[in-house]
Amino acid sequence: MRIHVLYTGGTIGMTLTARGLAPGADLHGWLEGVTANIDARVTASDLEPLIDSSMATPESWQAIVDELRARRAGANAFVVLHGTDTMAFSAAAASFALGGFDAPVVFTGSQLPLGAAGSDAAANVSHALEAAARQPGGVSVCFGGLLLCGNRATKASSWAFDGFTSPSAAPLARIGAPWQWLSAPAAGCGWSDPAPYRRCDIAVVTMTPGITAARVRAALSPAPEAVIVRAYGAGNVPSSEPGLVDAFAQAIEAGVPVIVASQCPQAAVEVGRYAASDELGRAGAVGAGDMTFEAAFAKTAFLLSQGLRGAEVAAWIPRPIAGEIGE
Ligand code: ASP
Repeated sequence: MRIHVLYTGGTIGMTLTARGLAPGADLHGWLEGVTANIDARVTASDLEPLIDSSMATPESWQAIVDELRARRAGANAFVVLHGTDTMAFSAAAASFALGGFDAPVVFTGSQLPLGAAGSDAAANVSHALEAAARQPGGVSVCFGGLLLCGNRATKASSWAFDGFTSPSAAPLARIGAPWQWLSAPAAGCGWSDPAPYRRCDIAVVTMTPGITAARVRAALSPAPEAVIVRAYGAGNVPSSEPGLVDAFAQAIEAGVPVIVASQCPQAAVEVGRYAASDELGRAGAVGAGDMTFEAAFAKTAFLLSQGLRGAEVAAWIPRPIAGEIGE
């Protein structure tokens, strides 16, 4: 078994500087200690520049995908060390772009730097290596005692060691002695030969009590390539607000896909279930089902990067590409 560890940045390899935590720890020296007793040949490389994952862009996702593809011949499993802030976006993005990759990719990181007393770094990396050795394929997130589908995971806590959950999909495994294997990742139709991610202009508009049509119109001007509405509950918006739904409807008419996600971490968006979302649905907005916000965002960026537009993007939102959405 040959496992390659790709280090991209994040708290796990940070040290305290005068300006706060930043990458700079001796991750490779530390990794040698963590992997000393592992029954696999472990290699490691850095993705330059090492970043706080809050700086990640779709180009960063593509850099991870490219690096994994470039190293595929030299390893049969991969661990990606990543900051926790946007790990769920990157894992979802990787799952769409790595359909035919045929080797497991396990994302992990930590809440405390590797050098901090009581750090969760060593446990998370050991577990991720074990998951990489045991998984047949697919992109997953291994964190705080859970192995989760990469495109169903979300960061639920900024501080807890069990900081990731997958609110709408059972964990793949609960880590213990022995590991409890609970579910298999859902399949998707895959995407052959995907074009690279590019930076897309996706407007995310959060519904709040009292939001006005003027505020929504301002968020949609200049016209973005796609809109994700962070609606309430099952996909509801304050449709009694004069002009608010019209603002979204005009965007759809102009060829901009409008995707309705929920502010609830665990959601089953059904546009039109309530009268509050009926008009938006009739205008052509499409629900994100039970996708996490991160998966919905990464999927929209993926579809736009493939050159799809408007109704073509909307048509793909409910169709699983990599198991990211329930039937
Ligand atoms: N800001 C850090 C990052 O996402 C947080 C972490 O890694 O836990 O890169």
